[in-house]
Amino acid sequence: MKLIVANWKMNPNSQKEAIQLFNSLKKSLKNLKKAKIVICPPFVFLPLLLKASAFALRKSGLAFGSQNCFWQEKGAFTGEISPKMLRDLGVEYVILGHSERRKIFAETDKIIAEKLKLSLETNLFPIVCVGETKEEKKRGKTFQVLEKEIKIALKKVPKSKIRKVIIAYEPIWAIGTKNSCSPDEVLTAILFIRKLISKLLDKKTAQNMRILYGGSVISQNAEEYLGEKNINGLLIGGASLDVKEFLKIVKIAQSF
Ligand code: PEP
Repeated sequence: MKLIVANWKMNPNSQKEAIQLFNSLKKSLKNLKKAKIVICPPFVFLPLLLKASAFALRKSGLAFGSQNCFWQEKGAFTGEISPKMLRDLGVEYVILGHSERRKIFAETDKIIAEKLKLSLETNLFPIVCVGETKEEKKRGKTFQVLEKEIKIALKKVPKSKIRKVIIAYEPIWAIGTKNSCSPDEVLTAILFIRKLISKLLDKKTAQNMRILYGGSVISQNAEEYLGEKNINGLLIGGASLDVKEFLKIVKIAQSF
C-alpha cells in the first residue's frame, strides 16, 4: 500500500481556508482502501481538522501528521510542541528533519535523532527527511550525506520500534523547484538506503522499511515514482495545496 504524505508547510493563512481545503479533499478520501494518506497541516489547524474528520473517515486510510515536534516531553521550552501533545490530539505521524528545518532553524542530525527517539517512545510514526544539496550532488557526495544523516538518526532507535520509522528521500535541490529527481536517481538512492539499513540493522528491516520520495512531485510525474515497488510513497509539498492535483496523485497511488 502506497503512503502519500501532504506537507502543507506554513499554509494556508486562516482556519476558514484550512477547513475549505480539507473539506474539498474529504469526500474523495473517504473510501481509501489501497493507499494511506497523511495530511500534515500547521500545528494550529490540527485540532480543527481532526474534529472535522469523523472517526470512521480516519479509519478508512486518512491520518494526520505534524511537520515537527520537540525532543523533550514538557517544560520550559517556549514555543515548542511535544510529541505527547500531538498524540493526545490524535495525531499519528510527524515529519522530522525536513530540509527547511535543517536549513532555516539549524536543526542538526543530533537534534533530529533526539526528536526521532521521543516520537517513537510516544508512539508516533516519524517520517525522517534526508537528502543532499545541489552542491553536494555536484561533488558526488549524495551517498555520503545519506549515510551520515541516516546513521545518526537511527543510532538511538530501539529495535522494537524500528518498523515505525519512515524515511523520505528528499534531494534538497528538488524541493519546490519544479526540478524533480529522475525516478532512476531516486531508485538508486533508495536502494543505497536499503543496503545501508541492512548493514546497520538487518536485511528484513531494510526490506520492510517504508521509504518515500519527495521533491516537486505533481500528477504528471507521480506514476513514474509510484510504479516502482521500492518507492513506498511520496511526500508532497506544493501539489498538496492544489485539490485537483493532489486528488489525481491519490488516485494514481490507489492503482498500485
Ligand atoms: C517538501 O516540502 O517536502 C516537498 C517535497 O515540497 P515540493 O513537493 O513542493 O517540492
